[in-house]
Amino acid sequence: MLLEAARSPLVWRRVNAPEPRGDELLIRVRCCGVCRTDLHVLDGELPGSKLPLVLGHQIVGTVVALGRDVDGLVEGQRVGVPWLGRACGDCRFCSFGQENLCERALFTGYQLDGGYAEYVVAQAKFALPLPGSFSDLQAAPLLCAGLIGHRALVTCGDAERIGLYGFGSSAHIVAQVARYQGRRVFAFTRPGDLAAQEFARRLGAEWAGGSDETPPSSLDAAVIFAPAGSLVPRALRAIRRGGSVVCAGIHMSDIPSFPYELLWGERKLCSVANLTRRDGIEFLELAPRVPVRTEVRTYPLEQANQALDDLRHGRFSGAAVLSVT
Ligand SMILES: [Zn+2]
Ligand SMILES: [Zn+2]
Repeated sequence: MLLEAARSPLVWRRVNAPEPRGDELLIRVRCCGVCRTDLHVLDGELPGSKLPLVLGHQIVGTVVALGRDVDGLVEGQRVGVPWLGRACGDCRFCSFGQENLCERALFTGYQLDGGYAEYVVAQAKFALPLPGSFSDLQAAPLLCAGLIGHRALVTCGDAERIGLYGFGSSAHIVAQVARYQGRRVFAFTRPGDLAAQEFARRLGAEWAGGSDETPPSSLDAAVIFAPAGSLVPRALRAIRRGGSVVCAGIHMSDIPSFPYELLWGERKLCSVANLTRRDGIEFLELAPRVPVRTEVRTYPLEQANQALDDLRHGRFSGAAVLSVT
């Protein structure tokens, strides 16, 4: 009987999964979203990644074992594991609600093994309970595309006319939230990408065009999701005096020099980095109220490389998710 059980692939994998220690969880991965950051890590564009490494930081899974010190979670519970995997908890950033900037933070699928896997170990304090109204596949893109998009949108303050540069996984969620909040959305895609422009209009953008085009009215704020530094002066040109340009990606090609007059007039240029647990809790409470509908292209785990390649070449609309179970 034991031998038979040991031959079953499921039992073999479970036996070989690490045991959670302290406040860690062992999670059976149900699915994992694919993010542009995964490409930056894969391409060696971000310093300091763990090697060898399992990518993936939009993990939806079931808790199958808990470390001795875990509080508030139970076996069998569905949780999400986002990009912020750990933070020190006592530096000046952690002490003032900016754990996203903690210099000792560790990130999932970058410095900690991530969710392109059947099991993952995560620190319980950084796992997020997920709203029941989202299926596993629908929930996965909320965990980075949604969270970073939310942080970027909050950084835009009360801006009404919002430009979104790069209409991928994150923008397709942000557009829905922005419309729910009564904002007006202007979508910028790769020049000539009519399918992405149509996708943006379907999600509530009142105008969609190429990133080389001028929107019909000046913008109060713009969020840049695409990793192209050349978009920064273009976005500055598109916003009004006093407006903001928010760079939401973790990596960007160099920003070309531009005349000071594009920044003058109290225009602001900033980035958003990572996420806090508070962002996660806020956004996962907001998303079902919108309600956000994520458009998902599903790949089996075995086709992770194909999913990354399709993301690199813009071959799908919305978000890619690896299905593991
Ligand atoms: Zn810290
Ligand atoms: Zn991400």
